[in-house]
Formats: sequence, C-alpha cells, structure tokens
Amino acid sequence: MPRIGHRRNDPTDVKVFILNPEGNYLTAAPDGLRFTPDRSRALIFDFRADQVAEQLREIQTVHGLALRAEPVPLAEIYETCDRCKELFMPFMTFFDGKRFLCADCRRLVAGSRQTQAGRKISGKPC
Ligand SMILES: [Zn+2]
Repeated sequence: MPRIGHRRNDPTDVKVFILNPEGNYLTAAPDGLRFTPDRSRALIFDFRADQVAEQLREIQTVHGLALRAEPVPLAEIYETCDRCKELFMPFMTFFDGKRFLCADCRRLVAGSRQTQAGRKISGKPC
C-alpha cells in the first residue's frame, strides 16, 4: 500500500486522489485504509514522489483491484490569499484568526498594525 502521512512540497509533482472502481476515495481510518465517498476526507498523494503509478499497478497485480488516480483540482490544493486573491501553496499562507494571508500581505498588514502598539495583536503569535 502507499505510504501515507508524507507531505512533500515539490510544486512540480501532481497531487492525486486514489479512487476505487466505485468512485470512492482512499482515506485513512483509525483501523487502516478505507474508501469513502467524502472527498474532503480523501488522502492526497504526490504522484511521482509516492510512486502512485507503480503502487496502483502492484495493487492490481497482487489484489486484482483496479484503483485509479485522479488529479486534485488546483483550487483545492492552493489557498487563496484573502487580501490579494492570489493562489499559494498552503505552507506559504498564514491564518491571522480571520483571514488567510500570503507572506507579502501578512507583512503589509503587520506593518500597518505596528503603529497601534499591538493593541489589535492580542492573541498568541502563530
Ligand atoms: Zn496576499
């Protein structure tokens, strides 16, 4: 079975879901791997880094199970910066308690707040 839990950040790799013949998504349950119709719970693999094609071929050979890989829509991989509306990899965005911000917007927002002596920045730093 594919190794799970690895999140790499190679932007050129293709993110994929794994589907069974019924169109359900591979997901991790406490007792092992399962298939679910709920895409929000689907595991996401890096097509090349996780050797998805090779793994699927092996599963087909060993278990006779025809699984397939489906690319994850870009809008589901990337976070949208709530200020500039650009798309960013999730690790490049920050959540300030209300909005997702990219590094540039976060710097701008933080800069404009510094003059207020931290009154608005009351929570823990992230
Ligand atoms: Zn931004």
